[in-house]
Order: sequence, then structure tokens, then C-alpha cells
Amino acid sequence: MIRFVDGHCDTIVKMADHGEDLWENQRHIDIKRLQEFGNPLQFFAIWLDPRHYPISLHKTMEYIDFYYQQLKLYEEYIAPVYSYEDIQKNDVCGKISALLSLEGGEALEGSLSILRMYYRLGVRAMTLTWNYRNALADGVLESETGGGLTKFGKEVVQEMNNLGMIVDVSHISEKGFWDVEKIAEQPYIASHSNAKAICPAARNLTDEQIKVIARRGGVIGINLYPPFLSEANHASMEDVLQHIDHIIELVGDDYIGLGSDFDGIEHTPFDICHVSDYSVLFQKIEARYSKDTMEKIGHRNFLRVLKKILK
Ligand SMILES: [Zn+2]
Repeated sequence: MIRFVDGHCDTIVKMADHGEDLWENQRHIDIKRLQEFGNPLQFFAIWLDPRHYPISLHKTMEYIDFYYQQLKLYEEYIAPVYSYEDIQKNDVCGKISALLSLEGGEALEGSLSILRMYYRLGVRAMTLTWNYRNALADGVLESETGGGLTKFGKEVVQEMNNLGMIVDVSHISEKGFWDVEKIAEQPYIASHSNAKAICPAARNLTDEQIKVIARRGGVIGINLYPPFLSEANHASMEDVLQHIDHIIELVGDDYIGLGSDFDGIEHTPFDICHVSDYSVLFQKIEARYSKDTMEKIGHRNFLRVLKKILK
């Protein structure tokens, strides 16, 4: 069975908001469908709707509690990972690995102590911003301000590097990205972003950004949101492959992973409707390149970063 690592989904927030269940649901990801793969590792992000920003910490705690309640219910099949050894352990036990991440530094409410408490609660990756300005940096939709990382944002990146938390540059302004590049001591990831050369969406990465992520040994997770895949605004697996082609041409096949954005996007490519369809994508990647490249994109590239950063 094919293994995969996916660097971003919003499933937990969807489940919590709608009173749904991780075992089986009508959305993009559930445990039943994850079991079709060989012990996959799914990043589960906590994203906050901007209306929750005034109570960011409170709301994030509720989502984290929901996440652990769900994992407890289905502990026979899925388990949280805090270290690289946990990933290996789950693999031996035949369990799905769940990695808790935060999407947007709003959740920190301006405090490094809260960042360290999130680490203690099992958070192992964080996107520094969502689309707008926060205490850490400007997001991509604030790019007209020219703002990058704030003093606090720099402290957060340094503390994440110290703790062993993965810095995620998806959503950050370009200036913020280059500020991270200047100070990062560990590889960083763009968990769910594509190539701007193929689709010029604000959320996508320039060739220069892709090159430095690669130089750092990081990973770019391919996002399945059609407006980030194609200017036509609708997309197919073929568009996903175009982004993969471009990144491989630019830096080789060691820095591409998956970052579906499942359950955070209202539509998907017409031939990738939910997580089960990854199996068809893997077949296509293998046919187009090789089994080796398919395995790198499917899981090995992300596992390399997790091995390097998680303590
Ligand atoms: Zn996102």
C-alpha cells in the first residue's frame, strides 16, 4: 500500500464546527479513507476564522481539545506524533499518524510562553500568518504594505527552531518570506503552496522562493485548490502534474510533497474529489517519472524534514 504524508488539511476545524466525525464523513478526509493507504501521516491544522481572532487562544484550545477527543475515540487506528520515533512506532503498529499544526500566529496572542505551551500540547508546525497582518508578520493579501516579519515574528521563528517546531511559510508576504530565510536555522516548509510560474495566484511561490526552500532542504506541499493550480479557475490532475514538472525542472524531485488543503477548499480538481483519489495521482506520478520520484513526493521528502526537525 502506498504511504503518504500530507502537510495541510482543515478537517479538524470542519468536523468541530459542524459536529461531524473523523471516522467517517462526507468531506475530503476521514479515517476510513486514510486506511486505504499504508500508514499515512496527515498534518491536521487548526485554522481560525477571523471572527474568532478576539478569542484566538480560547478557540484554538477548543479545537485542540476536539482533535484529542477524536484521536482518543479512534486510538486503535490513529495516533498523534510528537517525535520522529512516534512516526516509526505508528508505522510498525499499522496506525495513521496525526500531526497537529496551527495555521496563523494569531493563536499565540503575542506570547512566546503561549507558543511553548502549544508545543507542550503537541503542536509541531505553524504557519506564521494566514492571509492578513498579525503580530508576527504580514500575510500575502497585505503585500501592498511591504511588511515582513516583526520583532516578535523573528523571536517566534527562533523559538520554533529551538523547540523543534516546523516553520511554515505558506500564506506569508514575500517580504516576510525573505525575512524568515535570513534568520531560519532549520529547513522550513511551504505546506500548501504552488508555483507562481504556472499559476500566478498571490498564494503561490516564485521560482526564487522555491529555490531557497530547496537549498534549505525544506518541502513545498502541492495545494489542490483549483485557483492556485490554474488560471482557468477549474483544474485537473494534469494541472497538479504541471506544478510538479515545473518544480522538478527547477530544483529536482527532493523538495516536493503534498499539501492538499482538503476540507479547507470548497472545490477540488474534478478528478481528485477526496483523499482516496491520491492513489490515482500516485499512479500518474509514477508513470510520468519513476517509482522513486513518486515515493519522494508521496512521503519521503516530508519524512526527511520531520526527521531533521522533530525532537
Ligand atoms: Zn491555508
